Amino acid sequence: MRYISTRGQAPALSFEEVVLTGMASDGGLYVPETIPQLSKEELADMAGCSYAEIAFRVMKPFVNGEIDDDTFRGLVKDAYATFSHDAVVPLNQLDANHFLLELFHGPTLAFKDVALQLLGRLLDHFLKKRGERAVIMGATSGDTGSAAIEGCRHCDNLDIFILHPHNRVSEVQRRQMTTVLADNVFNVAIEGNFDDAQAMVKASFANQDFLNGTRLVAVNSINWARIMAQIVYYVASAVALGAPHRKVSFCVPSANFGNVFAGYMAYQMGLPVKQFIIATNANDILHRTLAANDFSKQELAATLAPSMDIVVSSNFERLLFDAYDRDGDAVAALLERFQQEPTALAEAPLAKLREKFSSHSVDDATILEVIREAHHRTHEILDPHTATGYRAAERARADAATPMVTLATAHPAKFAEAVVKAGFPGVPLPPHMDDLLEREERYTVLPAELEAVQRFVADQRR
Ligand SMILES: *Cc1c(COP(=O)(O)O)cnc(C)c1O
Repeated sequence: MRYISTRGQAPALSFEEVVLTGMASDGGLYVPETIPQLSKEELADMAGCSYAEIAFRVMKPFVNGEIDDDTFRGLVKDAYATFSHDAVVPLNQLDANHFLLELFHGPTLAFKDVALQLLGRLLDHFLKKRGERAVIMGATSGDTGSAAIEGCRHCDNLDIFILHPHNRVSEVQRRQMTTVLADNVFNVAIEGNFDDAQAMVKASFANQDFLNGTRLVAVNSINWARIMAQIVYYVASAVALGAPHRKVSFCVPSANFGNVFAGYMAYQMGLPVKQFIIATNANDILHRTLAANDFSKQELAATLAPSMDIVVSSNFERLLFDAYDRDGDAVAALLERFQQEPTALAEAPLAKLREKFSSHSVDDATILEVIREAHHRTHEILDPHTATGYRAAERARADAATPMVTLATAHPAKFAEAVVKAGFPGVPLPPHMDDLLEREERYTVLPAELEAVQRFVADQRR
């Protein structure tokens, strides 16, 4: 198994190389050259297996023998032992045929833990084997930074630097990052906004001379290993609901499209999926593209579901590659046009997407209404991201007979602002985090100047 770029020009890579590489050199994203298949028998055999065992079986073909089975099993087992629920990602039945897939039982209470707990361990494994060290740099306005820090805090061969905008991240989100006091974790509060932080990270990837040859690694959702890890919960939940003998539908609160793309990969591997519903907040590029073929950027809106606030959906490119029959030149041309002006997909690829995907966009007022309504009906308090999914599942569902699985992407305690605005007294943090607000914090405040940030990274890395 090799990995190829969605823009057709970059060299094909092995699994190890693709884990250590972010974006392809031609500006594209890496995808597997061929899609491994899960037979009906293999799916049926997973019934009753632990999550870690299903994860091992689903991901093994992507790893391509580059890690021996026992070692890979161990990495997977360790990654999911950090989750506080024995089922790792339990299904919670809401009504006759609607289920919540709770992806928020990891260390930072959002679904990004599922991928980042494994990615940190994979990186550390490959770096150790090569006798190398690497530096991770990322900018965050919330969920990704804390999940990346938790995923890397025990990694001997990695130093991680996460930039967040000073005084512009919620207290819970900041403390989830800054109270991790490990020697290889560096939190930097930038005197600027998120875009300033992001721009400095981008510039550092573009010119890495300041690190004198040490590898810089990206852990954002363009890293293939994150997608790979997320395929697993689609398979595990569908099998629990009767696959391969019964079809399942999924509704996914979406932003950069990494999560729902992983579901599409599971479908391509042979999982019987009837429908994928893409839920967006007011930042609705995915919904506009699917519903109205309006593939254009719009101003960023700050919403009550901040982890879904995006202008461009980076992983949508992976789906376009498939819709355009894996024609890298056509994808590159479309995305170049998109960068410059509002554009549209060609008829045939759009028709292909519409066979499997539906979409629905949910504004802030509706998010609050849904949190109240869902509580009234089911006694669950949904986080604002999951609330977009709850409404989209209701509105865009193709049929009532197929079980609908809505992905619960965060714990409501993490996004208390929306919950309180919806009229609830708030939600307590789970027991392992209930002293978060008293823990010691450590972070460094730096000006929004590239040179100052790069000097700090170069000096502090071990
Ligand atoms: C990151 C995130 C999303 C969006 O996921 P994508 O993979 O970017 O589509 C949704 N909800 C929460 C809580 C998140 O942290």
